[in-house]
Amino acid sequence: MNQNRLLVIDDEPGIGEFIKEVAEGVGFEARITTTPDDFRRTYRSFSPTAIILDLVMPEADGVELLRYLAEDRCQAQIMVASGVDPRVLATARRIGDAYGLQMSGMLEKPIMVPGLQALLRKTSQIHNSVNEQGLSQAIAERQLVVHFQPKLTFANGAGQTIEAVEALVRWQHPQWGLVMPDKFITLAEQTGLILPLTDLVARMAIEQLAAWEEEGLRLSVAVNLAPQLLNRLELPDRLAELADEHSIDRSRLVMEITESAAMADTGRTMDILARFRIKGMGVSIDDFGTGYSSLVALCRMPFNELKIDKSLVTELHKSEEAKLIVRSIVDLAHNLGLSVCAEGTETADAVDFVRSCGCKSTQGYYISKPLAPDALRAFILSRN
Ligand code: C2E
Ligand code: CA
Repeated sequence: MNQNRLLVIDDEPGIGEFIKEVAEGVGFEARITTTPDDFRRTYRSFSPTAIILDLVMPEADGVELLRYLAEDRCQAQIMVASGVDPRVLATARRIGDAYGLQMSGMLEKPIMVPGLQALLRKTSQIHNSVNEQGLSQAIAERQLVVHFQPKLTFANGAGQTIEAVEALVRWQHPQWGLVMPDKFITLAEQTGLILPLTDLVARMAIEQLAAWEEEGLRLSVAVNLAPQLLNRLELPDRLAELADEHSIDRSRLVMEITESAAMADTGRTMDILARFRIKGMGVSIDDFGTGYSSLVALCRMPFNELKIDKSLVTELHKSEEAKLIVRSIVDLAHNLGLSVCAEGTETADAVDFVRSCGCKSTQGYYISKPLAPDALRAFILSRN
């Protein structure tokens, strides 16, 4: 079977034929379908590595098919094609991203040969390097690197300091350069590699904390915990040991768990989160505002911080509703005794606004993008 398998759905057979011809020219085996039923059937039997979806079709729309693929936890690289308003294409991309799909590009109709060829080539490169075997090898050979995004803590008065960072993994790929986590975290979650990956990220983050400390820089670090790890009862002990091994005070280690993960299985999750806290580490509810937390569940969970999702914070400049929601979340969190970090502040106005709402800290491109360890150190030294 060809390594690169493209499945196309377009209600106009002529367009499908055209895409097939171009795809075969760049080394794909391609199948074309014109109806959703045929698409689903072929998807099952053909297991494509890449998919081109037409957004507007008479019998079903591309968004419905995106949902179908998301429910199947599809790992193919997905391209969306459409002749409608480019903003609709951009929205489809965001929907795919939100569903955890691998959205690799958009094709505006009429589709041009060079653009299509370039996108297909890029797609097959990503697919052929970002796979289970490659990722497993990357973990074993420490091709993964951690970048750190500073978190600005508001002090009383006008003061502000950087006391904490979030560890964000990247794959330093020998051929493709720095591959971002959205290209491989879902793969790690589906293959069980998320456990060794998280172990490695936590280890590298703690080692980095210890190295900075030797240089006179004292920081706390937050590590992301995937939902699949919330049944690993051994994790709190493992991370506490890791901190102790490097003489890092456990309170300088924070676990970030997304809102939807935290609410999914409250029994085991609560056990693990409580033990993180009992052992002295922090627990933060991540991406808050994207899930549907029940207030009762939220009250019972032993979090000490809440991070407001960037999708709300990046809307502040244009949406009164976003402002209202952010204010209400801060009030809710304070009433529950949680401190609040606003994620995704991209402008000075956004930073001012979240500060005025009572957020304790913020993280966003306005302050800094995630940085490699040396760059982060230089950034902090230059600010102070
Ligand atoms: P996250 O936990 O929500 O992390 C924040 C993401 O938002 C980062 O993307 C960061 O670069 C981005 N970001 C920060 N400030 C801004 C801003 O002002 N504007 C915008 N538009 N974006 C901003 P990144 O590094 O690509 O990470 C993406 C996601 O990958 C993370 O989202 C996290 O869910 C996941 N991830 C990263 N490292 C790990 C890891 O070690 N383990 C697990 N399980 N997931 C990880
Ligand atoms: Ca996070």
